[in-house]
Amino acid sequence: MGVPAHGWETGVMSSPIVTPQPTTDVPASAALLERATRVIPGGVNSPVRAFRAVGGTPRFMASASGPWLTDVDGNRYVDLICSWGPMILGHAHPDVLEAVNSAAAKGFSFGTPSENEVLLAEEIVSRMDPVDQVRLVNSGTEATMSALRLARGFTGRDVVVKFAGCYHGHVDALLAAAGSGVATFALPDSAGVPRSSAGETIVLPYNDLAALEAAFAERGHEIAAVITEAAPGNMGVVPPAPGFTEGLRRITADHGALLISDEVMTGFRCSPSGYHGLEEHPSGAADLYTFGKVMGGGFPTAAFGGRADVMAMLAPQGPVYQAGTLSGNPVASAAGLATLRGCTPEVYARLDVVSRAIADATSAALTSASVPHTIQWAGSMFSVFFRDAAVTGYDDARDQDTDAFRRFFHAMLGQGVHLPPSAFESWFVSAAHDDAAVDHVLSALPAAARAAATPD
Ligand SMILES: *Cc1c(COP(=O)(O)O)cnc(C)c1O
Repeated sequence: MGVPAHGWETGVMSSPIVTPQPTTDVPASAALLERATRVIPGGVNSPVRAFRAVGGTPRFMASASGPWLTDVDGNRYVDLICSWGPMILGHAHPDVLEAVNSAAAKGFSFGTPSENEVLLAEEIVSRMDPVDQVRLVNSGTEATMSALRLARGFTGRDVVVKFAGCYHGHVDALLAAAGSGVATFALPDSAGVPRSSAGETIVLPYNDLAALEAAFAERGHEIAAVITEAAPGNMGVVPPAPGFTEGLRRITADHGALLISDEVMTGFRCSPSGYHGLEEHPSGAADLYTFGKVMGGGFPTAAFGGRADVMAMLAPQGPVYQAGTLSGNPVASAAGLATLRGCTPEVYARLDVVSRAIADATSAALTSASVPHTIQWAGSMFSVFFRDAAVTGYDDARDQDTDAFRRFFHAMLGQGVHLPPSAFESWFVSAAHDDAAVDHVLSALPAAARAAATPD
């Protein structure tokens, strides 16, 4: 146990942990890391930032604008993390900045209801057909945690099903991945998670409806909800096989369990209505959805929502308690609203062009360096698996050459392109990635592909 073996912000999955080497070419970052390590565990406030999967010194950023990050040593990088999704319009977008400034000038937090949260909720509900109501929270973790409580309160059942390799935040009950292949009661993946809590979680292989049928046949009357990433992006991008989402809907409905679609990463990024908008839903949509990342525009705001009769169970209307001092914060809501309003058809078209150009060139460079790889997509989200076969679930995702990724990552970083520091992450682009930024990425690829091909 110890280190979670999967997903987003855990950032290590099964890659060997590389001891960070002091990097002398970024002295200001190295000095900040040293100071940070004294007062913050591991020097970071979220584990994947520590570069444990790739080694070396994480870059401390001083500023960002459009597609560019600038670190404290003055190095510039084309950003392919985009804060793990939220910066869909690029950094410090003028319209969002203006919205934040004008909201902040009117006060930071009231502890009473205010208008911006209503506008943000209306914007979300108007984009998501199956969502009648939302409750705003402060992080994706809170959104999934609250959605689970609500599902349990609504059904009067305790057990939750999740899929291996899906990340839903650091919620106790959801910090569990699978053994291999078979339905199993999960052991917690992190120290400090009570066995009882992980014991209410069934972990199943992704894209495997037969396993889900079997779990429901055995324990259907105890299962409150199935939670899934609408399209997993936290083991790398592993889209649902045709019919999978539909199967989840049918099986949960047959057994009186709720379906929770976690769109924290995909929401408002894969399409104006998230991954939901890219699939057909003949048997109906999910009961509950969770959102975060893009809908906060870089500020800590998130949401969960869905069917009105389920949401009616929430306090103060119903018996399921949920609350937050800063929830619906007026400044964060203004940032989120300005970001969503800025997500025009042209923005989505640009994301498609940029991601396609970068993915195609990456594939071409890796092919000419004879590096096995597979690229997978969910809307404009994509990831590069360093293996030559498709990835349909967590076991496949772990079966890749993370050493090749590490070499590739550092060669890109050294040329001013900041990829996610783990082989198990989506790459994110923004509409501010102009031709100059894309060209900068393309020009770095051949040398990085050769580095990936050359064991050190
Ligand atoms: C990022 C993420 C979360 C957690 O969100 P936080 O804001 O980091 O708590 C939950 N689910 C998915 C699918 C995510 O990508």
